[in-house]
Amino acid sequence: MENFLNAAAAILFFILGSIIGSFLNVLVYRLPKKESIVKGRSHCTHCGRQIRNIDLIPIISYLMLGGKCRFCKKPISPRYMIVELLTACSYLTAYLALGYSAELIYAVILFPVLIILSLWDLNHKEIPYTCSIIIAVLGIISIFTLPIPWYEHLIGAVIVSLPFGVLCFLGAMGGGDVQLMAAAGLLLGWSIVPSALIGIILGAIFGLMVKAVTKSSVIVFGPFLSVGIFVGFLWGEGIINAYLGLIR
Ligand SMILES: [Zn+2]
Repeated sequence: MENFLNAAAAILFFILGSIIGSFLNVLVYRLPKKESIVKGRSHCTHCGRQIRNIDLIPIISYLMLGGKCRFCKKPISPRYMIVELLTACSYLTAYLALGYSAELIYAVILFPVLIILSLWDLNHKEIPYTCSIIIAVLGIISIFTLPIPWYEHLIGAVIVSLPFGVLCFLGAMGGGDVQLMAAAGLLLGWSIVPSALIGIILGAIFGLMVKAVTKSSVIVFGPFLSVGIFVGFLWGEGIINAYLGLIR
């Protein structure tokens, strides 16, 4: 019975994540155009016909339609489904890694913010200020609600701000990257250290690959820092303990 309830909860978290992901798509698509995010129905970008309710089910509708508009049969970008799938998987992973805990509530808010700032950074080459503010507010609330001692939250914010501040000063990163990491440091405490390392290493590897192909030297760090924060939030403590165990 317990296994059944666990499996049911895991499926519910996946479905909830896919619905949130669907809403993130609306935000990312409509906000830059100053369109209402609650009013107005989604429509096909080719023929302009309104999308029917039956075709608005996250992930499933895209697969059922074979990635094509029901009316004009032109292809729909798979990125909408990828965002829904990504959010769904992040919720599922959060539930499996954290169970019912205070951290799970933070993850449910934090992960969509990470996904939207990553999409925004990819599209507009900047991390929205609002996203870092939301994470900073979560960080401040976490001082009073998560079991980490209060000063470790401050240490997290300070130790990550220094190296990222230097990287920003040298022009390797934008101010938005520093704000994001300082805010995440406040929330994660020491776990921000593995997060920052993962983010920088992934960003640098990908940046060099992009540079080799396109000769462009603009590195978008947001998505990689987000992956780092995701891993650090769920498993940061375990990574640090494993590392300390190795050097002892
Ligand atoms: Zn169409």
